[in-house]
Parts: sequence; C-alpha cells; structure tokens
Amino acid sequence: YRIKRAGGGYAWFDEAKDQRSPVEIEQLTALHHAIERDELRLVFQAITDIESRLPVGHEALLRWERPSGVVSPLTFIPLAETTGLIVPIGRWVLREAARAVQYGQISRVSVNVSALEFQQPDFVEYVETVLRQTNIQPEQLWLELTESCLLETERYAVVIEQLSALGVQTALDDFGTGYSSLTALAQLPVKILKIDRRFTAEVSDFTGPGRRALEVLRGVVTIARAYGLTIVAEGVETEQQAQALKDIGCTFLQGYLFGYPDPLPVGLPQYHNRDSGQQRTSLSG
Ligand code: C2E
Ligand code: MG
Ligand code: MG
Ligand code: MG
Repeated sequence: YRIKRAGGGYAWFDEAKDQRSPVEIEQLTALHHAIERDELRLVFQAITDIESRLPVGHEALLRWERPSGVVSPLTFIPLAETTGLIVPIGRWVLREAARAVQYGQISRVSVNVSALEFQQPDFVEYVETVLRQTNIQPEQLWLELTESCLLETERYAVVIEQLSALGVQTALDDFGTGYSSLTALAQLPVKILKIDRRFTAEVSDFTGPGRRALEVLRGVVTIARAYGLTIVAEGVETEQQAQALKDIGCTFLQGYLFGYPDPLPVGLPQYHNRDSGQQRTSLSG
C-alpha cells in the first residue's frame, strides 16, 4: 500500500520487505488519518523554576486518542518518523502548541521536534509563519531536539542559529541517554540542556551508587553551565531529588512532583486557515 509523503508524492510500503507487524501496519494506516479525524491532542507539563517554584513554561506532549484507547507517543512517534508522517504531524503540534500560548492558557511552550522535521528545508520558515499567525513572541517558544542531533552537529548548528536569530531558543532533550558527548554539545549552539529522567532517577538514593550518580551529574551540569546553558532536569518525582538537583546547579525542574502532563483547562477554538478560510485538517496539507 502507499502512504502520502509530507512534501508531496507517495512512499510505498511493501509489507513483506518492510517487515512491519500487522499491528504496526494497522496503526500506520490509522495514523495517516489521525489529524483529519481529530484524534490528536496535546497535553502540557509545567517546567518549574527551582527557586520560585513557579512555572516558566510548559512542555507540549502529544497524545493519539483512538476510539480503542490512547496510544503512547513512544509507540507512534517512531512509526511516524520512519514514514515521514512526523512532518505534517509536527506542524500540527507546533501550531496547536503556539495557539495555547496565543489564547493565554500558558505563558511559554516547549515543543518536541523530530530530526526529520528539523531537516525540512522550510522548517525555519514554518516556525516564522506560526509565530506570525499566532502573534506570540519568539521568546514564548522553545524547541526540543533529541540527542541524535549530536551526530551531525554542523548540519543542525546552522538551523539552530537561524532560529536563535528569530529569538526562538532550542533545547537539547534527553541528554545523557545516547550519543552524549560534552565535546559535541559544545559544537551545538543550543541554549538549554534537558537532563534525561534516567539520570534524575539515579540520584534518588544518596548512599552508594546514588551518591556517585549525583557527583557525575554535578560534573556534567558544571561543564554545561560553563558553556552558558540553562539546565532543566526531567522526571523529578521527589522532594529529595529536587533538592539534590538544585544543589548541583540545575535551573529548572520538570516532573510529576510539580505536575503531570494535563490537557488545557479550557479547550482551544477550532483552527481555521486564515488564508483560504478552510479548515486545515489534512495530513498532506
Ligand atoms: P520527552 O520529550 O523526554 O518528554 C518527557 C516524557 O517524560 C513524557 O513522556 C512525560 O510524560 C514523561 N514524564 C514527565 N515527568 C515525569 C516523571 O516525573 N516521571 C516519569 N516516569 N515520567 C515523566 P510522554 O508524554 O510519554 O512522551 C514520550 C516521548 O515522546 C517524549 O519524551 C518525546 O520524545 C516524544 N514526544 C512526545 N510528544 C511529541 C511531539 O509532539 N513530537 C515529537 N517529535 N515527539 C514527541
Ligand atoms: Mg521533550
Ligand atoms: Mg526528555
Ligand atoms: Mg524522551
């Protein structure tokens, strides 16, 4: 069967060659219609200032609400990434997240961006369009990139600089999980570093391994701060972790201790494309 590509045209998927399970194939077909069927939702989780304990912004996290139940992004984002569907989905996410700021429900939003989205030649242009259409300030938008960007720093650095010139800050997400290298980090002009929650989980006991994990993290945070980065620790669940992370120099904290990812208290009005007057719901649009 075939699936529409983001930039036009089609990608073909040979079931045998592609080696996808029937479940994945069914999901992919359904995911293709997720936007037009109005099945995508954003939930928002606070990013909290360590001193004031007030939110400095919220991370937008995507949910796919199928009639059969909610599907985790850990399942469908990888599927969307390997097929290119992540590009139109990501555009929906970015616009919807910006609209949450536009309608005053949150003061700043941090949006996850997949490598493939970031590589689109018109990515920066799309960000500009969204800023213009929603009339939000560039400082009210953060973009989160995953660590795989550290593999090709030159390529991403150019785009990050362009975003930075617009006033949009970029964060490196999930730091410490995969390709992390402090050298590569120095070559990427990101302004924010998000420490992966696996690191945070390790600092939960302060005897033995927990003590050592905390000292390693202290080293990473110290170096990152020397590069001028703002540090966000993810997955903070206990007061003890919050204190330890504060002591080693983290600036902002995110995790269940401060709030779960939640829908907005008031739903946003439906989006209408101002240019055509038509509702923009198609994945291919
Ligand atoms: P992420 O960007 O690292 O997001 C943080 C994840 O940690 C979220 O999982 C969040 O619900 C979870 N989390 C937050 N606080 C805690 C905590 O205290 N304890 C624990 N155990 N978990 C916590 P979620 O929502 O399932 O998202 C998983 C991943 O899916 C995200 O990881 C991100 O990589 C990806 N993702 C989500 N939404 C989008 C999106 O709109 N676009 C793209 N490209 N990726 C997305
Ligand atoms: Mg993230
Ligand atoms: Mg993360
Ligand atoms: Mg993650």
